[in-house]
Amino acid sequence: TKYVYSFGAGKADGDGSMKALLGGKGANLAEMSRIGLPVPPGFTISTEVCTYYYQNKKTYPAALQSQMEAAIKSMEKIMGYKFGDAKGFPLLVAVRSGARDSMPGMMDTILNLGLNDDTVLSLVAATNNERFAWDCYRRFIQMYGDVVLGVQKREGEDHEPFEVVIEGYKHETYHKDILDSDLTAADQQELVKRFKQLVKERTGKSFPSDPWDQLRGAAGAVFGSWMNDRAIVYRRKYNIPAEWGTAVNVQAMVFGNTGPTSGSGVAFTRNPANGANEFYGEFLINAQGEDVVAGVRTPEPVIQLKKEMPKSYAELLEVRQKLEKHFKDVQDVEFTIQEGKLFMLQTRNGKRTAAAALKFSMDMVKEKLIDWETAVLRNPADQLDQLLAPIFDAADVKKAKAVATGLPAGPGAASGKIYLNADRAVVAEQKGEKVLLVRNETSPEDLRGMIAAEGILTARGGVSSHAALVARQMGKVCICGAAALEIDYDKKTVTVAGQTFNEGDYLSIDGTSGTVYAGELKTAPSEIITGMLHGDKAAQATEKFKSFQQLMNWCGKATRLQVRTNADNPEQTQNAISFGAQGIGLTRTEHMFFEGDRIDAVREMILADNVADRKKALAKLLPYQREDFTGIFESLKGLPATIRLLDPPLHEFVPHDEKAQAELAKKMGVSVEKVSARVAALHEFNPMLGHRGCRLGIAYPEITEMQARAIFEAAADVAKKKIKVKPEVMIPLVGFKKELDLQVEIVHKVAKEVMAEKKVKLDYLVGTMIEVPRGALTADEIAETAQFFSFGTNDLTQTALGISRDDMGSFLMPYTENEIFKKNPFATLDQTGVGQLIKIAIEKGRKTKPDIKLGICGEHGGDPDSVKFCHRVGLTYVSCSPFRVPVARLAAAQAAI
Ligand code: ADP
Ligand code: MG
Ligand code: MG
Repeated sequence: TKYVYSFGAGKADGDGSMKALLGGKGANLAEMSRIGLPVPPGFTISTEVCTYYYQNKKTYPAALQSQMEAAIKSMEKIMGYKFGDAKGFPLLVAVRSGARDSMPGMMDTILNLGLNDDTVLSLVAATNNERFAWDCYRRFIQMYGDVVLGVQKREGEDHEPFEVVIEGYKHETYHKDILDSDLTAADQQELVKRFKQLVKERTGKSFPSDPWDQLRGAAGAVFGSWMNDRAIVYRRKYNIPAEWGTAVNVQAMVFGNTGPTSGSGVAFTRNPANGANEFYGEFLINAQGEDVVAGVRTPEPVIQLKKEMPKSYAELLEVRQKLEKHFKDVQDVEFTIQEGKLFMLQTRNGKRTAAAALKFSMDMVKEKLIDWETAVLRNPADQLDQLLAPIFDAADVKKAKAVATGLPAGPGAASGKIYLNADRAVVAEQKGEKVLLVRNETSPEDLRGMIAAEGILTARGGVSSHAALVARQMGKVCICGAAALEIDYDKKTVTVAGQTFNEGDYLSIDGTSGTVYAGELKTAPSEIITGMLHGDKAAQATEKFKSFQQLMNWCGKATRLQVRTNADNPEQTQNAISFGAQGIGLTRTEHMFFEGDRIDAVREMILADNVADRKKALAKLLPYQREDFTGIFESLKGLPATIRLLDPPLHEFVPHDEKAQAELAKKMGVSVEKVSARVAALHEFNPMLGHRGCRLGIAYPEITEMQARAIFEAAADVAKKKIKVKPEVMIPLVGFKKELDLQVEIVHKVAKEVMAEKKVKLDYLVGTMIEVPRGALTADEIAETAQFFSFGTNDLTQTALGISRDDMGSFLMPYTENEIFKKNPFATLDQTGVGQLIKIAIEKGRKTKPDIKLGICGEHGGDPDSVKFCHRVGLTYVSCSPFRVPVARLAAAQAAI
């Protein structure tokens, strides 16, 4: 088996399509090499070796060593150096992890590998640069000691042990703080000695001097880090399966730390925060690797290179163009300049905010880099709601005090109580507070706090800092490098603009402009909302709005699956239609029961102990329901409306405490005992599986009769106003054909009566929800009566899994941690299990009635993955809440492309 894939000198064994095998970094290093970009040579150890490693007690396949030796040989040939050479220039390598998807900060890179007490001297001799050579060696021991040998902060220690040694040395030698880059060769040499001593103390072993031992150790550490806590947390958050594994990249070192004509940087081919078409990034002169993102020295904007290294800058711009032309997407690159010569070390599709994704996609269509279908695919459906997120209220902004500005790293508006530490931020969030995480800079340890926070504010760090990276990825509101903030972790205060804020005080951040405000600011709806729903002209004139509308138009062009909405009143209906909904997929009739004093009539109906009394109460409810449906039909203007008859168990509508029962008894003129006895009688041990759904209409046919009458009378009234109406009456919780038959008979009877009374002909359908397994399994029988099916995937998931959604909280954590649930099955459809029931029902339903209308109306209708599933199995429509309609439209269009 081939385990090792070489790249370099304009060639490569692999290519950009091989991300599963070579990881993202390795595949793209191969691809860049192939298109002639200046990539230092190297090789990738495939993810198959990682899988082997974990399946075979952390050992390697036998063929690996010889393949690595051959690959090192070919690197030596290209570079003209030898690995471990104690006479000439020694070939040094970087050992770099590389999962299929980049996992920022999760894996550790080791630079300058191959140095020991002998090769450092040959490096000095070959470069005539003592400071540089010892700097490399010092860095190598530090990185290797940390990552491979585990010389790290222990319980109770505040600082990394290597940093403690450096700080101690600086103070004892210089009696003040100096930069690492100001350390002399002699300083570095002394630090190497002390570092090796530290390693010996902490590990009991000497630092390995044989380059091959070093290399094998480093590769093992990369594979090992696949299972470290941070990596596991990250994978869980982004649903990356543990089986994927990571690759290991071994690459010849190039040096950004040789002096003032060298440096390292990171850049995006366009601005990943707001999408602007500008070269965007930062670099540090005389620096290596993580220096740029470590936040020790503040990097300069990449544009500065134009002045400082014009030749390299011109080269970089050329690479920028070449990359975008080749990858046809915005790239995030890492580069190093060694004595004026540019090397590319990494490229990948740049992570971007939703706002940037939208702008990139629009611009690239205009530039003819991509077609409109690709543009639709470039907007992640699960990020779309970032665009709909609130902005700060303009009036509040005018009144507010701006205390600082920083880099706008994650667009949006966030107000919250500040916390300076991730743990406290998590605790506060769990108490229901809105939290802003404020730090000098963030690191992967802060991830939990960042997830908990509404927004992230840092005093240091730039566009490539950890905070900016995470914000882009998670869609968090974020400002980086607000240098005016003075953060005191011990006192738990932030001082800025002459004002001191304690933990728990409010700050507000506008991640679109980069402004920090004192206090709490009100938010206002985004331009897209005001433009779409309120017809606001100013909002409609914004580029954001126009781009969004263009995107939605393209979605309309591509989609096959229709999107409807779940709406219970005219306002929700109107909103959804403005977002492009093509009708109502679910109206829950009972949602209107709590409006005004209707609940009294509802309770009367429930408490009635004979048909006559119940009919009297229902007669009071009828006009209310009719009015609701009239409003809905009018706002639909001819679009279809699926209306579900009464579904929840009746006990949900009656008062349970004594005082309320007494009041109700008084209102109704009956005894308290009667009320409390009836409430007690309604008690169920398991209401979810109790007297609900069509079981209500079967026990009390007069309820179905009243609801049907309200629907058809409203329909008739609206039809008379020359507005088309398309009611679709839906019977819930059907498991037996006979249940449906009984209810449908009533509906048809009432329809006939109303049409005769009102002298109009109505076009209507009667169908059912498929939400219990028996309904799905006998869908062929049910389809004889039903004119449509709507999959009620909330209940179908509960009944198929035998798990109550409301009781799941107590075991959700272990189920998620053990990956029993890859995703919460009530948020994302369980395609393997519940999905099968849906497929069976579709197949059987169509056998009986080939053109049966099929929809879904559970929460899943607004979840992108589930929507894509619905497209694949051939549903007619999905239905979701009004504000999820754009998300569902985007997902539906993407499924069709
Ligand atoms: P990450 O996935 O965390 O970005 P990388 O493997 O890209 O880790 O390495 C981090 C940094 O190390 C790079 O940005 C680059 O500055 C430096 N580096 C990696 N490989 C080399 C190399 N061959 N020569 C010089 N520096 C390198
Ligand atoms: Mg990198
Ligand atoms: Mg249901």
